[in-house]
Amino acid sequence: MKIHEYQAKKLLRDYGIPVPRGEVAAPLEEARRIAAELAGQVVIKAQIHAGGRGKGGGVKKALSPDETYAAARSILGMQLVTHQTGPKGKKVRKVLVEEASAVRKELYLSLVVDRSRGKECVMFMASEAGGMDIEQVAATAPEKIIRCAVHPAIGFSPFQARKLSVGLKLDPEQGRQFAEICRNLYRLFREKDCSLLEINPLAITAQGRLLALDTKLNFDDDGLYRHPEIRELRDADEEEPLEVAARNASVNYVKLDGNIGCMVNGAGLAMTTMDLIKMAGGEPANFLDVGGSASPEQIEKAFRILTSDPSVKCILINIFGGVLRCDRVSAGLIQAVANVEMKLPMVVRLQGTNVEEGRRMLRESGLRVTVADGLYEAAQKAVSLIG
Ligand code: GDP
Ligand code: MN
Repeated sequence: MKIHEYQAKKLLRDYGIPVPRGEVAAPLEEARRIAAELAGQVVIKAQIHAGGRGKGGGVKKALSPDETYAAARSILGMQLVTHQTGPKGKKVRKVLVEEASAVRKELYLSLVVDRSRGKECVMFMASEAGGMDIEQVAATAPEKIIRCAVHPAIGFSPFQARKLSVGLKLDPEQGRQFAEICRNLYRLFREKDCSLLEINPLAITAQGRLLALDTKLNFDDDGLYRHPEIRELRDADEEEPLEVAARNASVNYVKLDGNIGCMVNGAGLAMTTMDLIKMAGGEPANFLDVGGSASPEQIEKAFRILTSDPSVKCILINIFGGVLRCDRVSAGLIQAVANVEMKLPMVVRLQGTNVEEGRRMLRESGLRVTVADGLYEAAQKAVSLIG
């Protein structure tokens, strides 16, 4: 799960990490008051779940309350396009107004979960070449990014902070601040089950203070059940509406760009089905895993999600009936199609317990359904139905 910069900064502040003072201007008229209270130059920042806002025009500076209001008004509601949003961009619904800082140097600092074999731990990554071109640095000068793996049983050690400080060429006072920041970031990362924590830039101000000017914080969805206060930070406006509906129905769904809607039980089978559609020359409209049980209720919910995507022109159902028998799956499908009033052509591939009975029920149902035996055959039939 992703959250906004202003929410992430609140969490950082709670953990003792220095961030600029600021507030979200909601309603927009608040921008003037916030700027007046901060006194001096301010930064106005679009809040969307994507980075690259600076280059896309989503970060502006202002010197007076009136200027702040004008900048906030121009950013709010804009369709912000950055290298992370895709060509359609994202609509800006919230604007953060913060005190501006005089920046001497921009560092990069992040914590990620390194899943590679032999590591499988939280990894600090840092660079003295932080700021808006960090992707460029990673691509062309990877030696400028230093790494430090944290052993889960030992935790983050002072010597690791010193190693990173030396790599960042910090002076002893900055090194002290940096060690404290790292220690607190690691605590936050672990306690809140984060999957990614990035500060870019971590500024060294003109006064020699380290300050988190921008931050991105993602959480492991599987850990959210134990953090109600984090779940509350979810902003459904930033998420794909069908993915929100799918989450509410406990269906694993990811929207894609193609036109063949897929309904599959099991993530591995769902991935395979998408690959086979590609091999047969088609494009999947989604990844959808109805889960191991695939009850009639789940199937109906999944149908509603698939059919509310206007780009879906054909539906491919690939279910392996194990504990759940194929005849039950067919009964569920027939009922769901009737309830949803589905009119799209459908290819169904069933395999497993009571498969013959399941297929017979579908053939005799009077539905617009093509029954397939094999995996690849099912994909080919779906592609040919699109024409
Ligand atoms: P991003 O482009 O989405 O990563 O947004 P950032 O919050 O990182 O802002 C983009 C850039 O604006 C940063 O890399 C900084 O160079 C600059 N910036 C942001 N806040 C401040 C500030 O308070 N003072 C100064 N001088 N620059 C800032
Ligand atoms: Mn940034």
